[in-house]
Amino acid sequence: MDLSVRKGIPDWAIAAALAVVIAAGGMGAYVAWSGSSGENRRGNLVCEKCGHQFEISAQDYHAAQAESRGANVRCPKCGQLAAEPVMARCPKCQRPIRHRDVEPGSPAHLQRLCPFCGQKMPA
Ligand SMILES: [Zn+2]
Ligand SMILES: [Zn+2]
Repeated sequence: MDLSVRKGIPDWAIAAALAVVIAAGGMGAYVAWSGSSGENRRGNLVCEKCGHQFEISAQDYHAAQAESRGANVRCPKCGQLAAEPVMARCPKCQRPIRHRDVEPGSPAHLQRLCPFCGQKMPA
């Protein structure tokens, strides 16, 4: 990616774009993967049904996506296809923030705030 285009674009927007590319059409899932080396990177997911949070490697995530044919992944705790990627965790309210929690163009999106409590997210 041409680094010059990064000016003024929030890092998580970059990450979102990358995640879409990485997911290869996987419903536009957003995954804030930690680390930097390909399939060894890890990301956090949260289950919509039971609230279980767990870590998964990019490789496992893609395999699970292929199985579910969507962005959601099977929760290891309750077994439902309800686990979604978490792109960040709020340092104040500790809630996991998913892509769809942040409305595009909203203050939370543009100013990188927690959509739940308004806390400024760390860079
Ligand atoms: Zn669950
Ligand atoms: Zn918060």
